[in-house]
Amino acid sequence: MKKMFVLLGSMVLLASLVAGSCFAVASDSPDIKAIKEHGVLRVGVKVDVPKFGYRDPKTDKIDGFEVDIAKAIAQKILGKKSKIDLQAVNAKTRGPLLDNGEVDLVIATFTITDERKKSYNFSDPYFTDGVGLLVKKAAKIKSLKDLNGKKIGVAQSSTSQKAVQDEADKLGIKVDFLSYATYPEIKAALDSGRVDCFSVDASILNGYLDKSTMILPDRFSPQNYGVASKKGNDGLAQIVNETINQMKSSGQIDKFIKKWKLK
Ligand code: GLU
Repeated sequence: MKKMFVLLGSMVLLASLVAGSCFAVASDSPDIKAIKEHGVLRVGVKVDVPKFGYRDPKTDKIDGFEVDIAKAIAQKILGKKSKIDLQAVNAKTRGPLLDNGEVDLVIATFTITDERKKSYNFSDPYFTDGVGLLVKKAAKIKSLKDLNGKKIGVAQSSTSQKAVQDEADKLGIKVDFLSYATYPEIKAALDSGRVDCFSVDASILNGYLDKSTMILPDRFSPQNYGVASKKGNDGLAQIVNETINQMKSSGQIDKFIKKWKLK
């Protein structure tokens, strides 16, 4: 019995040493040292997705669920949640900004995909959304089926086109796509009739809903959002993932979801 305790005790000690040294390695890694020297964590966030990352035109302040996550990571690495420098990104710019080192992290409704994992480190998911469809009320479109033969506006470099195409194939309908660099451009195309539908994650569509439009009940292709960092910055990826998982298990992520009324 005594031997057993000794054995168990030494296993626990070994496990904590290994865990401790992992953290030590991560916080001593060159990428983390560079952020500490810089003094701020540079984070790419959306500025046009209300409740996730949104710049209030009245105050010019960027706020939202993903900004709160950025602050929590800054707190973890730099000891202060105010030590962040937020930069506006969209679906097209967020990858290149990571590639050229202008931002340390992207926390911007960035769906984790196998393809993207080849280029970036992603944390475990912190939120799951679904792809949705925004149409003109006057068009009397009730679901994706009614979009047979119609044009759908999607964002360049987003997951939306593939998601809608897969769903259209399941239904046996034919749809065409027009792709745009930004969401306001897709909304303008919808308003002027150049496209019949604007498709992207439902949370993003919410920001473009107005009196003349409606979001259809269809939701497909679950979108798991992760925090992305540059490949090679592995100490950073490790600390980010630890922070996300701690926030999930402590209930902090759920608190933020409630705070921003996301569900
Ligand atoms: N979440 C989707 C993606 O990562 C939609 C585009 C976006 O996030 O802007 O492709």
